[in-house]
Amino acid sequence: MPIKVAPHIAGLIPYPPGKPIEELEREYGISGSIKLASNENALGPSPKALAAITACLAGLHRYPDGSCYYLARELAQRLAVPSQRLVFGNGSNELIGLLAAAFLASGEEVVTSHPTFLVYQNVVQAQGGVNRVVPLKDMRHDLAAILAAVSERTRMIFLDNPNNPTGTVFSAGEFEDFLGRVPEGVIVVLDEAYVDFVDPELRLDARRYLDGPVPVVALRTFSKAYGLAGLRVGYGLMREELADYIHRVRQPFNVSTPAQVGALAALEDDEHYRLTLETTAREKARLAAAVTELGCRAFASQANFFLIDIGGDGRALYEHLLRQGVIVRPMNAYGYPGYIRITPGKPAENDRFLRSLEQSLKELGYGR
Ligand SMILES: *Cc1c(COP(=O)(O)O)cnc(C)c1O
Repeated sequence: MPIKVAPHIAGLIPYPPGKPIEELEREYGISGSIKLASNENALGPSPKALAAITACLAGLHRYPDGSCYYLARELAQRLAVPSQRLVFGNGSNELIGLLAAAFLASGEEVVTSHPTFLVYQNVVQAQGGVNRVVPLKDMRHDLAAILAAVSERTRMIFLDNPNNPTGTVFSAGEFEDFLGRVPEGVIVVLDEAYVDFVDPELRLDARRYLDGPVPVVALRTFSKAYGLAGLRVGYGLMREELADYIHRVRQPFNVSTPAQVGALAALEDDEHYRLTLETTAREKARLAAAVTELGCRAFASQANFFLIDIGGDGRALYEHLLRQGVIVRPMNAYGYPGYIRITPGKPAENDRFLRSLEQSLKELGYGR
């Protein structure tokens, strides 16, 4: 007897897994490759986080603290919010899923953009919800069209700011105007995975919107600016009423001990954080100028990555760069077949990327 699977589960498209670097290297006969594909922190994890993680290992026979007590206390103090407003997850990805599990019933709707982070649509579908997808306009969230897509069945709106993969942001004014028009009863999820990299003048303060008639849930992560993507820890900032529901659907020990300890130490490592932002800003500007010189178009971005229109087939360029040990992200899955997305690495890695890019563009006949 074939296994019975609900059509909304059978129709899910798995997240493109990506092979381990070691496998890619074996397949392509290369070594020492560099990965500029996943918006990770080029400088690595904070040394203080590594020390804290190492120090906690002897206690791994114990279950983690299910309340993330110390991490919540430190973060609450830094954000000047009560710790009851914070909910931690196994990466902010888990929180996206928990929001859908808590607030979305079968057949109810969520409005998202396209292209944006691919996880939103997936968790909605997995939950039996319905995606209403609104195209970006000039590579930005089209807030007016998103409002027009809201119906009586809409429960949530997912907005990442900056948007992945375009790196664009909306302003506080635009967001407030938008919130004023969202019907009550809808939750607006503001995914701030890249908020650390945004120009301070362009940054909006999610704390101001938690208690409005349209509740906002802000999502943050330790995977990007804090350099702990492999550890899996992120959090949501929301009013207590919503946090209570998330606690009911989450697993009691969803954040491991190393993740809690590492995140806390990373939070306290101001030096590594500052160096990360500095290096990212500097290398991003340098790379954008250099790829423009090579005849490509670099798109301005408020995040730690940016899109490049390479004037050819992005997938072909991706393959070509891969054979030289340089891993970038092709954008076919996002609907930009002529673009690649790149996350600046360390200065020497970026030099190598530029050399390989120049070579590949020449061989493929793209760019200038
Ligand atoms: C990288 C990223 C995240 C982070 O996910 P984690 O599960 O915390 O690693 C969240 N949202 C967006 C838009 C991202 O690009």
